[in-house]
Amino acid sequence: MSSQTISERVRPALAGFEPYDPAFSPCNINLSANENTHPLPATIATGIAQALVDTPLNRYPDPLANGLRDELAAWHGVARENIMVGNGGDEILFNLLFAFGGPGRALVVAPPCFEEYKNFAKMCETDVVEVWRNPADFSLNADALVEAAKNAAMVMVTSPNNPTGDLMDSSLVQRLLDNTDALVLLDEAYVEFAREGSSLIPLVANNPRLMVLRTFSKAFSMAGLRCGYLVANQEVIEVLAAIRQIYSEDVLAQAAATVAVKRRGEFAPVLASIVQEREYLCKGLAELPNVVQWPSQANFVLVRLPHAAEVRARLRDEYSILVRDFSYSKGLENCLRITVGTHEENERLLQAIGQLIKGD
Ligand SMILES: *Cc1c(COP(=O)(O)O)cnc(C)c1O
Repeated sequence: MSSQTISERVRPALAGFEPYDPAFSPCNINLSANENTHPLPATIATGIAQALVDTPLNRYPDPLANGLRDELAAWHGVARENIMVGNGGDEILFNLLFAFGGPGRALVVAPPCFEEYKNFAKMCETDVVEVWRNPADFSLNADALVEAAKNAAMVMVTSPNNPTGDLMDSSLVQRLLDNTDALVLLDEAYVEFAREGSSLIPLVANNPRLMVLRTFSKAFSMAGLRCGYLVANQEVIEVLAAIRQIYSEDVLAQAAATVAVKRRGEFAPVLASIVQEREYLCKGLAELPNVVQWPSQANFVLVRLPHAAEVRARLRDEYSILVRDFSYSKGLENCLRITVGTHEENERLLQAIGQLIKGD
């Protein structure tokens, strides 16, 4: 009889991983996961509802979601062959490491950043090289990043960065491309909230190692849908097409995302409101004593304040407001990340934090 436990049978690279816990608890105001807290614009919701009703469920999806790819390609001024759709941006990040990582290869990241880069790299037995940001202002250490990337298979950088909110300089992206041989994944999950012209998708045409990730989960108000996409060189897309889970993007997600792209102009008022509300929230936070914040081009703000973990717990328990606690993460001591909500949500958050701080 075998005496191996189940956990001993797990592939060594996967030992120790635990189910993802979004630390969600029921609350009135959820500003913890960087979702768009506005529902879909009513006109788009109606269009999507009709598209879903018209979608038969008995047939398999188009594996590559070509209808959606064509809409995305037209939007971004590229060809269908430059687009890969995935079950959320997360699936594409995983597949990039599955395809281009592996034993003896390294991924360079610049923490504090999205934790999944490192998790997926480890699952795919890829070494992780961390080039930490400046602990005071979270600026990137450009020279160290370029040096590290010289020996790496891939670099993953984020613009605007989660959780620090800063945009990446296009000149640094270009330096990474020109001075190293690494694949460069630029994660633009939040770029729709940044100032006009921030996306570096236009650089893909002349830089075959640049890959830009986008998602429907943030600006497009569809985190529950699970749809993201990559804009990259045709050869990169062909590799991803060959190794992906063939039907990961279901027919309903394809139909809904296609409507959203066709009618993307209708999101403009919501996006403008979130950007305006970001300024309102930052101004309000700046008026509170002992609250440090970093300038953000995304739909969230990172703050540092005394007793952050306790403030976060009291916001949840006494005000039913959920924000993300980063105080236990390396480099983010006493930091909370607050998603920009609707005006009313932001107002209530500011009032609550103000009261908690005064009561200190
Ligand atoms: C939210 C997010 C993504 C993608 O999320 P999906 O819901 O899987 O599309 C990717 N990168 C960063 C930095 C994010 O915050």
